[in-house]
Amino acid sequence: MIKGAIFDIDGTLYDYHANDKIAMKKLCDFVKEKFGIEEEEFMEIYGRARSIVKMRLTEGASQHNRILFCQTALELIGQNPFIYAVDMYDIYWNTFLSEIKPFDGAIEFVRELKASGIKTAVCTDMTAHIQFRKLKKLGFAELIDYIVTSEETGLEKPSPAMFNLALEKLNMDPHEAVYFGDSLERDIYGSAKVGITPFWLTAVSPEFLPDDPPYFAFSSYDELDAKNPGKLFLKMDTREEVE
Ligand SMILES: [Mg+2]
Repeated sequence: MIKGAIFDIDGTLYDYHANDKIAMKKLCDFVKEKFGIEEEEFMEIYGRARSIVKMRLTEGASQHNRILFCQTALELIGQNPFIYAVDMYDIYWNTFLSEIKPFDGAIEFVRELKASGIKTAVCTDMTAHIQFRKLKKLGFAELIDYIVTSEETGLEKPSPAMFNLALEKLNMDPHEAVYFGDSLERDIYGSAKVGITPFWLTAVSPEFLPDDPPYFAFSSYDELDAKNPGKLFLKMDTREEVE
């Protein structure tokens, strides 16, 4: 019997790319005003800064930390990170958070699960601080029981450490939980590998839909019968398509 639902955050509970685009535009406007660097050039510099940070760290949540991207970008353009890095970080995230909205039906879906006695967790490859801010702004603060970040485990999805810690917090075996995510590599393969049944949000059309591992594909929360999770999850035993 399914007793727990674990969710990825970015791209699963809200549209990450739409918000990133708006926030990056605002950051580029600031950089142009301060340093006279055009958007296209700064995007290239910022991309390079990001690659440098990721290359140095290789694993863990800090490789997504935008204070490091801003610091490194400022180092690349010869500007003082002590003066500008925090401002740039705040411009990005404050813009991002001001625009953030849950996917249609996501709040209602999680609320219905909770009402049916399903425990909930999020499992995310990011630093804890920003994920707490996102969840609160999105309206999930009262609806999620536990959080696991890669900052906490030191490892990122698809590492089993991420999924196992979520199960440990939920106090459940893998067959008692389902997982909702948007990344085939990280979420679907990762959760399936530890024995959790994955639900793959394919809102952005995937290049291909593999046959293995077994998963349920859905393109919006309205497709899932939130009012009857017992019935929804029962289908998993028979591996029927989610209608
Ligand atoms: Mg995601």
